Amino acid sequence: AVKDDGHQSIMFFDEALEKEASARRQLESDLRRAVRDNEFELYYQPILNIGSNRVAGFEALLRWRHPERGIVSPDAFIPAAEAIGLIVPLGEWVLHEACRAAAQWPVAVTVAVNLSPVQFESQDIYKVVVGALEKAGLPASRLEVEITESALLEAKEADAALHKLKEIGVAIALDDFGTGYASLAYLRRLPFKKLKIDKSFVRDMRASAESENIVRTVLELARRLDLTTVAEGVETEEHLAALREAGCMQAQGYLTGRPMPGSDVGAFLLNRSLRPSAPSSTAMEGAS
Ligand code: C2E
Ligand code: MG
Ligand code: MG
Ligand code: MG
Repeated sequence: AVKDDGHQSIMFFDEALEKEASARRQLESDLRRAVRDNEFELYYQPILNIGSNRVAGFEALLRWRHPERGIVSPDAFIPAAEAIGLIVPLGEWVLHEACRAAAQWPVAVTVAVNLSPVQFESQDIYKVVVGALEKAGLPASRLEVEITESALLEAKEADAALHKLKEIGVAIALDDFGTGYASLAYLRRLPFKKLKIDKSFVRDMRASAESENIVRTVLELARRLDLTTVAEGVETEEHLAALREAGCMQAQGYLTGRPMPGSDVGAFLLNRSLRPSAPSSTAMEGAS
């Protein structure tokens, strides 16, 4: 009986693996079709200057409009797109589309685009970025690129490309700060302009003294290194108040605006820019 059970669980294990592999193959072939048929769309999430309560820019966030599954979020497909190299054409499309959209906005705020490490490995990302800017007629100073720490571990080519991008005026942001490793070495080596504090720290700021201390320490570090600070995952007025008090410069999260379709950005910007002073900015009026 013991032997049979063992045999059976091995069968189940095989079946589970086979199921997983087949789901993976399905996802990959769906992705290839999606790139071919252009099933992707960019959403844009506002980033606010905490001091003035004005929109500093938007982060472009990729969405997949799957014919059967509906809108699929990037965490569910970017790893697969990276594994089969599809992130390269897809990431190029994102750059072109984000620059094209930003060039049409009624207010000249920045657009931030996430880059995958694979994009640094298999193409000259500098050339791709310059091509997207030129085609859209967007000044380099309106583009930011976001990379995570893990992105840089593998990609040696990243250093040169990032320095060249900085030279022409593209801002480089270190995304999800605090969740990776070797952060301090990267801060010294690479030409970052911005540091985005990961939402996990922001979420726990009030409840945990440890998280609050981490956020304050990161903000102090950024101040000394002359980096712009952005807090991610700002969901409540309480988060925003704590961040303002701690001296964080910018905020991004459901409180300040959910990611929205490109067609809503123009109205959002006009509405925000015409409003003389929103209530939550009064405490800081004159301080920025
Ligand atoms: P990220 O760059 O850190 O983007 C922020 C993520 O936090 C977004 O998830 C956003 O929708 C979510 N978010 C914003 N505000 C809040 C909040 O208040 N609370 C919570 N809980 N979440 C919030 P999203 O859009 O699902 O994207 C997930 C990740 O996928 C991104 O994280 C980024 O790493 C990656 N990604 C998105 N678009 C692209 C892309 O075009 N290219 C590449 N390579 N990666 C992308
Ligand atoms: Mg990002
Ligand atoms: Mg992030
Ligand atoms: Mg992230």
